[in-house]
Amino acid sequence: MGERRGTGFYGEFKSAREIAEQMKRKKRRQQKKRAQIIVIGILMGMLVAFSIIIGSVSIYRHENPTIDIEPYLPERVADWAMIMPLISAAEEFPELDIEENYLTENPYSRPGTKLGKVKKIVIHYTANPGTGAHANRNYFEMLADVGDTYASSHFIIDLNGDIVQCVPLNEIAYASNEANAYSISIECCHEDEEGEFSDSTYNSCVELTARLCEYYQLDPKKDVLRHYDITGKECPRYYVKHPDEWNLFLSYVAKEMGE
Ligand SMILES: [Zn+2]
Repeated sequence: MGERRGTGFYGEFKSAREIAEQMKRKKRRQQKKRAQIIVIGILMGMLVAFSIIIGSVSIYRHENPTIDIEPYLPERVADWAMIMPLISAAEEFPELDIEENYLTENPYSRPGTKLGKVKKIVIHYTANPGTGAHANRNYFEMLADVGDTYASSHFIIDLNGDIVQCVPLNEIAYASNEANAYSISIECCHEDEEGEFSDSTYNSCVELTARLCEYYQLDPKKDVLRHYDITGKECPRYYVKHPDEWNLFLSYVAKEMGE
């Protein structure tokens, strides 16, 4: 057989057909291989795309530590030109029934320095357990005579929730260190050393903060701070020791604004 295939006519013919079939098989193998390469390529591409998506999601998560606040839209970006300087909270927010009791102008608690754009609201505790808003307001007033301590606040919220405004809102108060020049301060009274606000104090603080955020177009997620967030001072103590409670407070402010 081998001889005939090599030399005879039929042999030549058979051999040529065999070669053709061989080539066809080879071509088919090559096509199959090419298809496999394409499929593998597509799979690899999908894998790379998938890892890029997963990677960017985890970077996003890393850069944005979640604050437990219910999101609300649209994002508040203050249009400064539209915000008129405010002096009296009692006039602007009559529903809050705020008592206006300004300190006399003096270098230690009411310097009369003009407050610039209001960019932050800063929450404090009085660190004076069991005392009310009037006692703390009178303490600020007395500093004028003592003459060595600088301290005050725009607002003091009593144990019973009453709000007293001590400094006009177009002037700075001495409460929040380097943030004094661009912030409004709220001091909250508290019953004991723990520094937790009573329900009345807490609710008034939520409402007042929400109204101020609305007026000054501030976002509670970024613009409402604890004194602690500026200087590291343990103020307001309970809400520094319990960050979850602070986040809850901010979420109530956001909710109050939504209504
Ligand atoms: Zn403070």
